[in-house]
Amino acid sequence: MAISDSLQATKNRIAAACVAAGRSADAVELLCVSKTFPAAAVRAAFDAGARAFGENYVQEGLAKVDALIDLRGQIEWHLIGPLQSNKSRPVAEQFDWVHTVDRLKLAQRLSEQRPPELPTLNICLQVNISAEPSKSGLLPGDVAALAREVAVLPRLRLRGLMAIPEPGPGAAAQHQAMRRLFDALRAEGHALDTLSLGMSADLEAAIQAGSTMVRVGSAIFGRRG
Ligand SMILES: *Cc1c(COP(=O)(O)O)cnc(C)c1O
Repeated sequence: MAISDSLQATKNRIAAACVAAGRSADAVELLCVSKTFPAAAVRAAFDAGARAFGENYVQEGLAKVDALIDLRGQIEWHLIGPLQSNKSRPVAEQFDWVHTVDRLKLAQRLSEQRPPELPTLNICLQVNISAEPSKSGLLPGDVAALAREVAVLPRLRLRGLMAIPEPGPGAAAQHQAMRRLFDALRAEGHALDTLSLGMSADLEAAIQAGSTMVRVGSAIFGRRG
């Protein structure tokens, strides 16, 4: 399938899920996950109307930012993979969003390294909602404390929460738990607007639970090699 067709099919799935959940059609943003696919695939998706792209690996993402420098003001680049503190500088300088902040030291570095002439860097805290020891992200009980610390860092803008639920029978409960955490932070006074939840396989369930941003890779770009 051409990327323009799979992109449209994905938008149709999102729209149908919004209707099914009784939410407005523009309540959910689509982040196109282009990891492992070449810059030409990003450009094809851009030409078909996509504007926000997610990358997992810093070096690969930076190479695509560079290759598509002619689109720089028009594309939003999101880092959605784990970030080591010693790799934070180019991310602070080149990306628009980081979805995977899970510790204060990383947040502090990103804030210090964000160039003053750029808008604040958009941040989601990553939550290890399945509490699997092998997964990155904060445990749910630690989210509120880090949110308070990140919220006051001058060059960051805390936008919300991100998670990668474990697929299977427990996924729905994890989606719900993310929604509750998100609502709890908002009730505490954080002006959050982003619940980054749902991928190719579970975007409908995530939208049902209240996701505002789905991260979709294979359904748009095809299977990764
Ligand atoms: C790869 C990836 C996605 C996209 O997954 P698909 O199943 O291809 O849609 C979304 N989020 C994260 C964090 C990923 O690593």
